[in-house]
Amino acid sequence: MLEILFIILNSNLLSGLYADREKQNLKEDAFLVKIIAQNKKHEDYGELFENNDIRFTLIDLEGNVVYDSKNNKNEEFMDNHMEREEVKETFLGKDGFYIRKSKTLGVPLAYYATKFKNDFNEEYIVRTSSEYSNKLKQIRQFSFSLVLFFSILNYIMYFFYKNYLKRDLYNKINRMKIFLEAGEKTKSGYFGNDPWISSFWEILKEWQKRNLDNLEKLDNEKKILSLVLSSVDVFIGLLDKKGRFITKNNSLTYIIDPSSDKVLESVKFIEIIDIIKKSLETNKNIEKEIYISSIQNYFIISVKYIENIDNYLITIKDITQTKRNIEIQKNFISNVGHELKTPLTNIKGYLIALSDAPSNMQEKFLKTIENNVDKLENIIIDFLNISKIESSDILNISSIGVKKLENSLRESLDMILRNKNGSLEFKIDSLNSNGIIESDIEKVMLIMKNLIENGFIYNVSENPKVIVEIEEENSKYKFKISDNGIGIPEEKQNKIFERFYRVDKARTSNVAGTGLGLFIVKTLIENLGGEINVTSHEEKGTIFSFYIPFIK
Ligand code: ADP
Repeated sequence: MLEILFIILNSNLLSGLYADREKQNLKEDAFLVKIIAQNKKHEDYGELFENNDIRFTLIDLEGNVVYDSKNNKNEEFMDNHMEREEVKETFLGKDGFYIRKSKTLGVPLAYYATKFKNDFNEEYIVRTSSEYSNKLKQIRQFSFSLVLFFSILNYIMYFFYKNYLKRDLYNKINRMKIFLEAGEKTKSGYFGNDPWISSFWEILKEWQKRNLDNLEKLDNEKKILSLVLSSVDVFIGLLDKKGRFITKNNSLTYIIDPSSDKVLESVKFIEIIDIIKKSLETNKNIEKEIYISSIQNYFIISVKYIENIDNYLITIKDITQTKRNIEIQKNFISNVGHELKTPLTNIKGYLIALSDAPSNMQEKFLKTIENNVDKLENIIIDFLNISKIESSDILNISSIGVKKLENSLRESLDMILRNKNGSLEFKIDSLNSNGIIESDIEKVMLIMKNLIENGFIYNVSENPKVIVEIEEENSKYKFKISDNGIGIPEEKQNKIFERFYRVDKARTSNVAGTGLGLFIVKTLIENLGGEINVTSHEEKGTIFSFYIPFIK
């Protein structure tokens, strides 16, 4: 059907084009006739157009045919031509062109008519004509055979596709399916029969390998990223528009439950939820410091809207420790001021009073001034020690024979031993056979000196005694320093390691104490990786035991 429609359309188009072409030809013929016949009368046309192919008729203005190039003496020739359409057109001042069936020949002819005036001032109508039917037939035949040719070609190709190519394709796909489903070992059996399978298999393997490599790379990157995320002590999470976590780490589980993916379900505190909600609603970046009173912690929370992916990046940092450290520093400075002020005020007061004091009092005043100067000195030494410890926790490892350690300590404690008439005993036999201690010896000495000194200071016994024991156990040095002093009330024992803490100033004659000694001792032991404990009974004595691990 389509082909037939094509033939009709095609031949109509071609015949239209052909009619135009024919009109042009006839016009050119008429023009030629006019030139040739310009200076001749029609009675002389015989010779002129004898050997010429142009077929034309000369008609006078009454419609009579006065000359016909084919010289027909038939009915057609004799007829008056006034009523012919092409002739009528010329009287309207136009050239006429018509195609119609010739009465004489019975076939379609094309006619072209135009007015013409010769040199003798005679006016005629020149009408050229040509046979039209043959050419039209030829065009239709050509068009038909063209369509026929392509239709046959079309059918042949379809036949070929259906009966050969399609079947072959199905066949190959089937073979490929069986090949892919076959086990690894039997696969090679296919290569002999179907060589194309082997190249297909190579391409597939290569492609698969590349995919696996890419997957592995992606997997590694993902692992690294989650490792980095999980190793920071800041909560990091990426939220989508609906408030679901796309990814997050598991830090700060005391404020965010890691088991839920919905932010509003996992965050445990309304203060944080409010901030996140606000950012989700407004798409605004928010950064805020908050205090959660129920757990007494400070946090910095930041919610950033990432426009291009329409997600939110949440980070939460617990800054409680930093805040407390700042607080401690502040208190420390104000305590330092206070501690220095007391002895200085005393010194100043007694110095003024000294000049007016009666001579029996002067010695007492001088003693008080000396005590306060000692206290100032102690405070300054302790401060220097603290600032040294806090500015660096680098260990300076060396070794010392335990006997040498004992002698050094005796030497530096000589004054107090003599003043107090005290006895210091070392039990060091159970230490290793070499009797060597390897550690940051300067720090160990400072710790021991402080503890032994306290054992004599806070002691009102007639025979003050301090015993030092050192032994090794489970890769640790264990120290025990016991005294027969005044002891520490049980309820105060957990406070004595705090800065500036002193149990009861009235209990002893040690006016020069600062309350910093045990704080320094504890900090040094912790720097060395160890721990300290105290057991004490009032009026019986105190035991400080601590250990420090071997240095690796
Ligand atoms: P300071 O000795 O300068 O007062 P310390 O930090 O060394 O400061 O000691 C804190 C407090 O603990 C002391 O004021 C004292 O009351 C108590 N204390 C420390 N050692 C002993 C001890 N061996 N026996 C009894 N009380 C002690």
